[in-house]
Amino acid sequence: MQGPPTAMSETVRQELAGIVGDKYALTKSQDMQPYFTEGNERFDSQAEMVLRPGSTGEVAAIVKACGAASVPIVPQGGNTNFVGGTIANGGVVVNMGRLNRVREVDGLNFTMTAEAGCVLADLQTAAAEHERLFPLSLGAQGSCMIGGNLSTNAGGVGVLRYGNTRDLTLGLEVVLPNGDVWNGLRGLRKDNTGYDLKHLFIGGEGTLGIITAATLKLFPLPAHFHTAFVGVEEIGAAIEIFGLMRQAGGDQLTAFELMSKAGVECFETHLGAPGNPLSATYPYYLLVEMSDHSADGAAAGAFESGLSEALERGLAQDVVITQSRQQYLELWHMRHDLPMTYPKDGAVFGNDVSVPVSQIPALFERVLPAVEAACPGIRPVPFGHIGDGNIHFSLLQPVGMAPADYLVRRPEIAKIVTDIARDLNGSFSAEHGIGLFKRETFTSWKSPVEVEMMRALKTAIDPHNLMNPGKIFADL
Ligand SMILES: Cc1cc2nc3c(=O)[nH]c(=O)nc-3n(C[C@H](O)[C@H](O)[C@H](O)COP(=O)(O)OP(=O)(O)OC[C@H]3O[C@@H](n4cnc5c(N)ncnc54)[C@H](O)[C@@H]3O)c2cc1C
Repeated sequence: MQGPPTAMSETVRQELAGIVGDKYALTKSQDMQPYFTEGNERFDSQAEMVLRPGSTGEVAAIVKACGAASVPIVPQGGNTNFVGGTIANGGVVVNMGRLNRVREVDGLNFTMTAEAGCVLADLQTAAAEHERLFPLSLGAQGSCMIGGNLSTNAGGVGVLRYGNTRDLTLGLEVVLPNGDVWNGLRGLRKDNTGYDLKHLFIGGEGTLGIITAATLKLFPLPAHFHTAFVGVEEIGAAIEIFGLMRQAGGDQLTAFELMSKAGVECFETHLGAPGNPLSATYPYYLLVEMSDHSADGAAAGAFESGLSEALERGLAQDVVITQSRQQYLELWHMRHDLPMTYPKDGAVFGNDVSVPVSQIPALFERVLPAVEAACPGIRPVPFGHIGDGNIHFSLLQPVGMAPADYLVRRPEIAKIVTDIARDLNGSFSAEHGIGLFKRETFTSWKSPVEVEMMRALKTAIDPHNLMNPGKIFADL
């Protein structure tokens, strides 16, 4: 990130406070602190103000005023990105939480238009109230906001069937760095009229503009979910089961998630909630789900026969098919909250890598011995969206090691994991983006041609570099 910008004048502060009203222009350290917390961590954000606009017009006025005074802007949603994407180095944080209206649900068009500050779980509920499904689902859904999901192109547990946030988006409303409002809220599935500009802002991490609203795709609400918890001895078997279940269920297979024995035990120990429902423990567990639209739950047949074959072929060691809503909720609670229990067991860091699904066994075969050799006693607790080839290769510190001694080795050990993913034609950031923390990997990994194209877009759309400066690119 570039050096700190010059402090804002009192006139600019007053102008910005005048746009949102004093109540929503925070300047005291204790008032701003809640907006400087990312996940479990507090960070040293240097914002001079946190602004909480209540309309697109207020966002546009803030951006215009900041542009005139050269004040950098950090857009912010629920602050759950984990890559330092909302850390400010001077200027203002624009928190979008007050833009939280669902503007329209068009059930017949299977679309919903919602403002950027809507919390993801609230959008799922709003869709369900209209007997529709908004399928984006992730562990942070109680606090992340759709504007943040769009800006990070969030993935989650339904990508296998429904795609990333990008695939769920038909239109956007965006305040551009010059303060203009682009209204691209089209509910069209076909619209080949020039460049598809929304894709610049989806996954743009707030570096090209502030998303204020989106038109999102909805889907038919499944009548039944067939869900199973499966114990497996090794990762190769998990991938074989994936192929088998996909063949059995086709597009009805909507989730195929991985957890490890050590990870599940961490969850059981630290949350004391129901964990592994099987009668024995296994090195890895799968949470497998098929969504069924038939009233009589006809897909149960395909689901059960796929799992039976996995047992018969010795790929699965044991299976529990959920028998109650309670058990279903408990298993998903474990899957979503499991990684949040890791820090209770010591210092931990994640590696959000992806590889082609067929290469996942190779990823495990190479990463596990390599990290053990680098740091004897290290405790791998991988989990994630194995059906998408996306493993959060979390690594807990060896028992007894001082957390600081472990964390200082993070870059070296993380590089081991990402280098192997790279070798297997993978990605070093499957879901969370680049933010502040992955900028060096970004420039060393991406080709100069790719980085140059991205820089050209950034400088064309935000020539004064006021939109989330220092994110993605270290020098912009
Ligand atoms: C428990 C847990 C589980 C998670 N699981 C997943 C998962 O399965 N899949 C996944 O993809 N991610 C996951 N994440 C990461 C995170 O939830 C996502 O990246 C999410 O999309 C971030 O949304 P947010 O509202 O918190 O955005 P923030 O963290 O506030 O912001 C993220 C980025 O978007 C920018 N931004 C925010 N709002 C706007 C806007 N309106 N306009 C322009 N830019 C904006 C910010 O400047 C920042 O660069 C998880 C996080 C946690 C804590």
